Amino acid sequence: MTASPTHVIVGAGLAGANAARALREEGFDGRIVLIGDEADLPYDRPPLSKQYLRGETSPDDIRVLDADGWSQLDVDLVLGAAVTSVDIDGRHVTFGNGTTVGWDRLLLATGAEPRALPVRGGDLPGVHLLRRLADADRLRAALQRADRIVVVGAGWLGSEVAASARQMGVQVSLVEMGSVPLARTLGERVGSIYRDLHASNGVALHMRASVTAILGDRRATGVQLHDGTVLPADLVVVGVGVRPRAQLASRVGLAVGNGNGIEVDAELQTSAPGIYAAGDVASAWHPVLNRRLRVEHWANAIHQGRVAAANMLGANRPYDRQPYFFSDQYDLGMELTGHPDPAMEVVFRGDPSDGAFMAFWLADGRVSAAMNANIWDVTDTLRELVESGRPIASERLADPSEPLDALVSS
Ligand SMILES: Cc1cc2nc3c(=O)[nH]c(=O)nc-3n(C[C@H](O)[C@H](O)[C@H](O)COP(=O)(O)OP(=O)(O)OC[C@H]3O[C@@H](n4cnc5c(N)ncnc54)[C@H](O)[C@@H]3O)c2cc1C
Repeated sequence: MTASPTHVIVGAGLAGANAARALREEGFDGRIVLIGDEADLPYDRPPLSKQYLRGETSPDDIRVLDADGWSQLDVDLVLGAAVTSVDIDGRHVTFGNGTTVGWDRLLLATGAEPRALPVRGGDLPGVHLLRRLADADRLRAALQRADRIVVVGAGWLGSEVAASARQMGVQVSLVEMGSVPLARTLGERVGSIYRDLHASNGVALHMRASVTAILGDRRATGVQLHDGTVLPADLVVVGVGVRPRAQLASRVGLAVGNGNGIEVDAELQTSAPGIYAAGDVASAWHPVLNRRLRVEHWANAIHQGRVAAANMLGANRPYDRQPYFFSDQYDLGMELTGHPDPAMEVVFRGDPSDGAFMAFWLADGRVSAAMNANIWDVTDTLRELVESGRPIASERLADPSEPLDALVSS
C-alpha cells in the first residue's frame, strides 16, 4: 500500500455507505471514494415499500447521513456516476467518460436490481418495479391516482407493497405462483398467516396463479392469468425477485457463481486479493453454515459493509452472522433470525391468530430460524438460540411459560 492509500467503494447503497463509515471508525485516515450511480445521498431502502411509499416520511428521514455528515467523515462522494470497468492489474476503476480513480483496496457493493416480468406487455408504461427512491416516488404518485392495482409476486416486496396500497385505500389483487404468500421463504404454515392477514385487510388473493400477459395498448390496463382470468388494473407492480449486479466483477474475471453474485471468502475477499464484495451482490462463504449464502437483507448489507471495511484494513475478520430480516405489513411487524427452509418442521409459541407469536424452524431438533411477530426485544436471545445449535424439545419451544433465556442456557 502507498503512504496515503485510497480505498474505493463502488455502490453507495447500504453496504457501501456503511463500509465508508466503518473505514473511518476503524481509524483509516487515507482517502475514501464512495461512488454511486444514483444521484441521491445514500439512503435506507426498506421504507420504500412502507412508510416512504405511503408518504409518511421524507427523503431526509431515510438518509444514512446528511451532506454535512459525509463531509465531516471526509468521504469523497461521487454520485450519479457509474463505474464501467475495473482494472485489477492497474488498480483503478473507470467511469463512462473515461475518468479513472486508483485504489489500494476496492469494495464492490453494487447491490441487486429487480427482475422484470418476461411476458407480453411486461414493459408497458404503468408497470412498476421498485428498488430506488425515484421508483418509490413514481409509484406513490401513481397509487394516489389509482382505484385498483395488481401486485405480481407475494414475496416480501410484493406483500409489503400490497399492504401499503391497501393502507392508502387502493383495491389490491395479489398474484402469486406459490400456494400462499412468502411460501418459498417461510413455508406453507407461516405463509398462510400472511395469506389470512392480507385477506382480512381486503386484498383479493390469486394463489397458484401465473401471469401470461400484461394487457393494454399504450399503458397497462390489466393482467391476464394462466387460466384466462383478467384482473383489471390502473397500474401493475412487479415484485418477482432481484438479480445481483455482478457484471463489473464477471467482466474482469472475478469468480461469480452461476448468476448468483460475486463469490467471496469468509472474510468477504473476492478471488482477487485486495478486492472485496459485500451486501446483496456478495455470495459469501458462511463459516458456520459451511456453505455460500447470498442474503438480500438490510442488516446483512450493513454488517457485511462494516466487516469488509475492517478487512480492507487487515483485520482478517470472518463474517459469521446469522441472517436477520424484518418486515412490517399492516399491524404485523416481525423479525426473522436465521435461515428457515420451507420444508422444515415449524413450532409455534403463542397462537398466530392472537396477532403476537413466535415461530421456530427446526432441523434435526435444532432451531435453524426463529421469528418474533409483534413481540419485541427478543432478537438477541433468538439469535443465541439459533447460534447455539443445541437440540431443544418442541414442547419447550412451544411452552410460553418457559422463559426464552432458559432455552438458551439449558
Ligand atoms: C423496497 C425495498 C424494501 C425492502 N425492505 C426490506 C426490509 O423490510 N427488511 C430487510 O431486511 N431488507 C429489506 N430490503 C432489502 C435491503 O434494502 C437490501 O438488502 C439492501 O438495500 C442491500 O444493500 P446493498 O448496499 O447491498 O445494495 P443496494 O442497496 O442495491 O445498493 C447498491 C448501489 O450500488 C449502485 N451501483 C450498482 N452498480 C454500480 C456501478 N457500476 N457504479 C456505481 N454505482 C453502482 C446501485 O445503483 C445502488 O445504489 C428492501 C429492499 C427494497 C428494494
